[in-house]
Amino acid sequence: MADRMEPVLPGSFLGILGGGQLGRMFTQAAQAMGYKVCVLDPGSDSPAGAIAEKFIQADYTDPAALKEMATVCASVSTEFENVPAQALDALEALGVFVAPRSSCVSLAQNRIAEKKFLATWKAETNIGPAPHFVIEHDADIRHVPAELFPGILKTARMGYDGKGQATIYDVDALTTAWNEFGSVPCVLEKRMDLDFEVSALVVRGYDDAVMAYPVSQNIHRNGILHTSTVPAPSLKPEQEKKIIAAAKSLIRKIDYVGVLCVEFFVLKSGDIVANEIAPRPHNSGHYTMNACVTSQFEQQVRAMARLPLGDTRLLAPVAMLNLLGDLWFEEADAPKEPAWDQVLAHPDVKLHLYGKSEPRMGRKMGHVNCLGESLGAVRQVCSAVALELGLEP
Ligand code: ADP
Ligand code: MG
Repeated sequence: MADRMEPVLPGSFLGILGGGQLGRMFTQAAQAMGYKVCVLDPGSDSPAGAIAEKFIQADYTDPAALKEMATVCASVSTEFENVPAQALDALEALGVFVAPRSSCVSLAQNRIAEKKFLATWKAETNIGPAPHFVIEHDADIRHVPAELFPGILKTARMGYDGKGQATIYDVDALTTAWNEFGSVPCVLEKRMDLDFEVSALVVRGYDDAVMAYPVSQNIHRNGILHTSTVPAPSLKPEQEKKIIAAAKSLIRKIDYVGVLCVEFFVLKSGDIVANEIAPRPHNSGHYTMNACVTSQFEQQVRAMARLPLGDTRLLAPVAMLNLLGDLWFEEADAPKEPAWDQVLAHPDVKLHLYGKSEPRMGRKMGHVNCLGESLGAVRQVCSAVALELGLEP
């Protein structure tokens, strides 16, 4: 195994826990730099596993699988946010360089811990979480402050793409919703008056170098990211500065190595609220694949290989449009193939499909990055592509 201080050099294996689209794009970036990749995922049909040099199909906590991974890989990262912390700890105990480490991943896995951390962080950055209340027992419901209604009830664990969330208007509805969620630990968060949403993508190297990408402005539909636009059209320069400084201080504070995404709300009042953190490359950072000197996936490779980080500079304005499985259906039961020829007739559009065998409604199948000389041009191309794909404007 490589000395802890030495870089992991091309030709070596890098490991990734999770075999979804993020793992696949990580694998492609690693392979482009001459690395081999070992993917561990419980599913047989894995977009990353299909292209990796080595695919271990097993549960994340399977001791034999983790041992095999540790034998092959000097360095391991995760693309799956809910990977059990014990898997990361086991790999570290076996001498693997794990980036980000399990304490960072655990923080993002539990909204209760995450909010608590974001609240302490406020003293430093002046950006805190939305007002919220933790619900772990029946009795807690009686103590929920009235000013949190209307609120959003979120399960503490396993929520993503708006899953495990319900909008709540009063205590009765809260009781019902909490029971429907199986009375698991939850957070009730005040529903904020959002002006728009943004995310900061930062990266920290093994040597404590920290770099930030330009902040992206994000639009969600049905809880799922729809578009990310960079530079963020509505964000004021001083807001962007504040957000980037906050994200940079956060990544250092938790001693995180690798790519980290922090989601923020910008309120109608102009105030900024920290929403959540994702301990990995993020959907809102896919724009970097075509619009930045270094993509978020290459950056993850560099960080976990203990190599110098790449430039995060934006080369051109860009809008990323997510492609969900819905595009493969005319009606619920009438399959179709999206009009790729029309999409690619725009020379500034870059298509990324994840190689998933079965399109399903709401499933992330790919994305396009629409580049242009100005935000106006980017918007125009992105709207045209959306229209050609049959998406509502
Ligand atoms: P997920 O883990 O599913 O991404 P989020 O907490 O990021 O969960 O919520 C998903 C989306 O729901 C957010 O991007 C935002 O659009 C909306 N949302 C979440 N919390 C709030 C809130 N407190 N006030 C207003 N909108 C919210
Ligand atoms: Mg989110």
